Amino acid sequence: MTKNARAILEIIRHSSAHLTAEQIYLLLKEQNRAMAQATVYNNLSYLYSQGLIRKLSVEGYPDRYDNIVRHDHLVCRKCGRLSDILLEDLTEKLQHQIGVPMLSYDLKISYICDECLKNGAVPAERKEHHENT
Ligand SMILES: [Zn+2]
Ligand SMILES: [Zn+2]
Repeated sequence: MTKNARAILEIIRHSSAHLTAEQIYLLLKEQNRAMAQATVYNNLSYLYSQGLIRKLSVEGYPDRYDNIVRHDHLVCRKCGRLSDILLEDLTEKLQHQIGVPMLSYDLKISYICDECLKNGAVPAERKEHHENT
C-alpha cells in the first residue's frame, strides 16, 4: 500500500464522522499530508475495492466513507444525517439465503432525526398511513 493510501486509511479508521472525499482531502491538508483531490479519490476507490473501507451512498448526498468494523446505520431521510447503530449480526442468516459466498452487507434504516423532527418534518410514510386509516 502506498503512503497516501495508508494516510487515508488511518483517517477513516480513526473517525466516526462518516467523512466525504472532500472532508478527507481537507483533513489531509490540515495534517500537512496534502495530496491532489484526484489522488484522494483514486486511493478511496482502491481502499474500497480492497475491502478496507466502507462506502455509504445516500441519494442526493456525496458518498461517505467508514471503517469496516461491523455496525449498521440510521439515515435521516430529510437531512441525510448518518448515525451508527449496532444491530444483530445478520451475516449468518443472510448467508443461508444466498447461494454465493457473502462478503458483507449494508443495512441502512430510514428515519427522521430529532433535529428535523423539531423543525417540523413529518415522516412521509407515517403521514400517508394516517390518511388511509
Ligand atoms: Zn435530519
Ligand atoms: Zn458508520
